[in-house]
Amino acid sequence: MAIVILSSSKCPLCGEILHDEGDLLLFPPLTANTMDPLHFFSDAAVHTTCLEKHPLGSQARHYTDKASKASAPENRICHITGEPITNVDDYISFGLLTSNANEPLHRFNFLRMDRNSLSRWADRLIFIEVASAFLKERKWNDYRGTKVLQDLIDEVR
Ligand SMILES: [Zn+2]
Repeated sequence: MAIVILSSSKCPLCGEILHDEGDLLLFPPLTANTMDPLHFFSDAAVHTTCLEKHPLGSQARHYTDKASKASAPENRICHITGEPITNVDDYISFGLLTSNANEPLHRFNFLRMDRNSLSRWADRLIFIEVASAFLKERKWNDYRGTKVLQDLIDEVR
């Protein structure tokens, strides 16, 4: 989650100092893809009023809500089996892969799975194909040497 120092940190949307706790919204890390337009909001602290005026503001809120619902412990249900994932070591979470609803990768956003059930996942090969194409088409860029999407492909493979 964003770290903000009131009367020192600046809102990236307007460039002004954040003074008022009541006019403040903190974003979690939203997507690992630095090329996604919403990556701008990852870990950001912004004025609520600026966010409301921003063209991507409602989308940023939409995906933040989805991310927090997906990561809630009671929602750690395996997409493949429908069973709760009890062992944290077996838990795979896809997160926000793309905010572009026209991308085939979009339907794989926020999936949660039990590692032990991967071999039974009907869309496994489709995911690998779609995600590999996304990388090949240079639509993904990682932050500081991480390989989040490639690691996910390798995990599922
Ligand atoms: Zn602002």
